[in-house]
Amino acid sequence: MKKLLKQYYGYTDFRPGQKEIIESVLSGNDTLTIMPTGGGKSLCYQIPSLKFSGLTVVVSPLIALMEDQVQSLDSVGIPSLFLNSSLEWEEYTYNMHLIRSGKIKLLYCAPETLVTERIQNLLSQVEVSCLTIDEAHCISEWGHDFRPEYRRISEIRQIFPKAVCLALTATATETVRKDIKKTLQLGKNKPYKEFIASFNRPNIFLDVISKSGSTNTKLHGIKLSKADEITLDFVKSHSKESGIIYCFSRKKVDELNTLLQTAGFSSLPYHAGLNDSTRSQNQKDFVKDNVKIIVATLAFGMGINKPNVRYVIHYDLPKSIEQYYQEIGRAGRDGLPSTALLLYSYGDIKKISFFIEEKSEKERRIAEEHLKKMVQYAETATCKREFLLNHFGETLPKTEEKDGESCCSSCQNKDSLLTDVTIPCQKIMSAIIRTNERFGAHYVIDVLLGSKQKKILDYHHDKLSVYGIGTEYSKTDWLNIVNLLVSEKYLSKSEDYNVLSLNQIAKKALSERTKIYLPFTPTGKTGSTIAEKFPKKAKIELSDKDLLLQEQLKKLRRNLAEEYNVPPYVIFGDKTLEQLVYQKPLSEFELENIYGLAEKKIQRYGESIIKIIEEYM
Ligand code: ADP
Repeated sequence: MKKLLKQYYGYTDFRPGQKEIIESVLSGNDTLTIMPTGGGKSLCYQIPSLKFSGLTVVVSPLIALMEDQVQSLDSVGIPSLFLNSSLEWEEYTYNMHLIRSGKIKLLYCAPETLVTERIQNLLSQVEVSCLTIDEAHCISEWGHDFRPEYRRISEIRQIFPKAVCLALTATATETVRKDIKKTLQLGKNKPYKEFIASFNRPNIFLDVISKSGSTNTKLHGIKLSKADEITLDFVKSHSKESGIIYCFSRKKVDELNTLLQTAGFSSLPYHAGLNDSTRSQNQKDFVKDNVKIIVATLAFGMGINKPNVRYVIHYDLPKSIEQYYQEIGRAGRDGLPSTALLLYSYGDIKKISFFIEEKSEKERRIAEEHLKKMVQYAETATCKREFLLNHFGETLPKTEEKDGESCCSSCQNKDSLLTDVTIPCQKIMSAIIRTNERFGAHYVIDVLLGSKQKKILDYHHDKLSVYGIGTEYSKTDWLNIVNLLVSEKYLSKSEDYNVLSLNQIAKKALSERTKIYLPFTPTGKTGSTIAEKFPKKAKIELSDKDLLLQEQLKKLRRNLAEEYNVPPYVIFGDKTLEQLVYQKPLSEFELENIYGLAEKKIQRYGESIIKIIEEYM
């Protein structure tokens, strides 16, 4: 199997889980696999397809994804095809002919195509060794993307009972897993195995920054919001890289896109308000690296396999952790360091709550629960990665070395200098005591800030000695301090209403006037340090000459992509590019040592690559 991995894909090692899953399928087990986006699911059926004597049928919900897969397979020399409604009749019948001839290893089709009589007829004439169901959660009404056509796949299983079945998905709760197993009758006539890979994506740095507060920055006379300023700073420090920016509304997408374009960045919008052809053209331009940034509503991302998305920015808070996780998963599929940046503010919570209000009682409860978890994630001062993994029922292995610089903003802050926050901590703790440990953070902070809201006046909390003594910090800063105190176990938050109370160590600190140090930086001060906050990720510096070589190779990649009419990453990915620049291979033999280059690609592009490196040398 390793030989096939090297021979076809030019990779030397399997990713976690791949080997076991491939072995399971090849030994004839019906297999269910849960693996995060970018985990490497495709290989789990593509490698077995090379070993099987018959055809592997892959059911996939999106035409764009099928095309992408077939292009990639073609580039590595694995004969594959797709059948769907986008094909002209002639091509369709020719593809059917190729399948009958037995030359094809993989056939991709949509579920509605698979259940047609014509396809069933065709498949009954050939040997089918494996039936792969991609995005298998679509089968379940309990999943987040139910597609009724998927239910009928079970009928197909009856037609070729000998074929082993592999179901793959990136998102499945236990209920959905059971539903997939039952509907596809996994394990009914064959042994059954289930694989759940870790959801950890260690190459994605999880950054969360508050966008509350204002700025003095202007662009062409227009005053920028804090979120605009942070976004511009971020894209500036990643100007050569591809990224996706998600916004809450179409209006915001258009505004931010205009702002980015005005500031000279290469960006395009993507949302349901654009007509179909513009939308698909913008997506194509992004996939083909003609444009660096896509500003989008959540509609964007399904159906793109682009492996070199270096960052995903959430300009607004997502509605749930599930949605957030799926979206950030689009960064760094190639395994190279990438960033997920989440911007949030109290205003976002209110905006989402407003939409939740309009839902039915049951839906509202679920949506509120989702939002609450999302806010907890944004606010937690403890490790974001651990928080996410816990949410998905996993724990970070103890052995895993965590490097704050590449883990998350909480870990990074922990590594940063501690500040003496004794006075503000004494203020907030006193305010909690004076209000009898009966209120949540927002209320207590409002008391410190001297708010005149009715509730405070009704309770006569404006008469307290702590009233209005906290105006040196903004509300966001105070919330940060509270969160840090909660994560350091000075304070407790009740489960139901987030009521704050003091733990023993806080009482002791207050009475003994102990100094408290926390990794706290007031937001007003971050403005000047934002540029430093997004330093280039530690990459090996290239000399000017090497940069020139890199540019030449990129140009070659673009030209080849045009010639073969595929996205540049199908020719070779960024990791391959990086290795070509460092190792400067000058023979086909040396090219074989480069990540992502194998027989077929060397045959096709090897000569052109070597020529460029020779000229450079
Ligand atoms: P998924 O379908 O799980 O989202 P893919 O199958 O698209 O993920 O794989 C993501 C990327 O990782 C692809 O570019 C793929 O070529 C690459 N990849 C998969 N397996 C390996 C491996 N063993 N070594 C290196 N790269 C891999």
